[in-house]
Amino acid sequence: MLLIGSHVGFKKDTQLLGSLEEALSYGATTFMFYTGAPQNTMRSNIDKELTKRALEKMNNQDIDYTKVIVHAPYIVNLANNKDQDKYKFSIRFLKEEVKRCEELGIKYLVLHPGSHVGLGVDLGIKNIIDALNIILEESNVTILLETMAGKGSELGSTFKEIKKIITGVKNKDKIGVCMDTCHLNDAGYHVEDFDQLLNYFDEVVGINYLKCIHINDSKNEKSSHKDRHENIGFGTIGFDSLIKIIYHEKLKKIPKILETPYIGKIAPYKEEIKMIREKRFNPDMKEEIEKAG
Ligand code: FE
Ligand code: FE
Ligand code: ZN
Repeated sequence: MLLIGSHVGFKKDTQLLGSLEEALSYGATTFMFYTGAPQNTMRSNIDKELTKRALEKMNNQDIDYTKVIVHAPYIVNLANNKDQDKYKFSIRFLKEEVKRCEELGIKYLVLHPGSHVGLGVDLGIKNIIDALNIILEESNVTILLETMAGKGSELGSTFKEIKKIITGVKNKDKIGVCMDTCHLNDAGYHVEDFDQLLNYFDEVVGINYLKCIHINDSKNEKSSHKDRHENIGFGTIGFDSLIKIIYHEKLKKIPKILETPYIGKIAPYKEEIKMIREKRFNPDMKEEIEKAG
């Protein structure tokens, strides 16, 4: 089964059941969600009944729940400890986020490693490692470090930085990596030559750590350090290169998640998943969605 899905919502009143229904409406076999708004840390309690209903509903669907992903809010920053209160809050929040994942039966939590905001790369990485060692002390959830575009003082835009973090983490069973094709491109990696990229990743980090891949095209040129996602086939990476990654022999068991931009107010995921399944790019996709909306 092709493990393809997208980012979906998670609303207070429908929770996992709503996320599942949204994913099914796109024809997805997996999905990713934030347990609240991506840009803040306000979270409501996990509703056991809604979780139960979602898990029951999944039984007769082509969804591989073991590959469903939660994404941590992007404002938590484990690299910066200048403000000790904020740093401690981020650690505490992620500990609670791990618990929420456990309650939902989710195994993977994607995290942006963080930005050092002037502290320097080494101290930033040390802060991330110290924080992860606290968070992962008693975790049943694996935290996946996302490869970043290198915007501002973002850490984790090179495999070597990712490797340094992993080396410092004690609980190696509970740490992994989530690649993001847009970020890789913007960081300067040759996404078009994915075999070579994967070999290099294996050399530096180890392919066993790779647990998820975000499939996005990019609005910007290679090495731009910008991080602006584009709909698949409409950007600088291109449809064929992304298809090669999605159907790559070595990535069969890895969930592929779309985080491409909405067309106006409409999610493009149903159409993008269709293009992916048919392996055929539809250059009119954006106009068709606009018209239908
Ligand atoms: Fe991300
Ligand atoms: Fe991403
Ligand atoms: Zn991004």
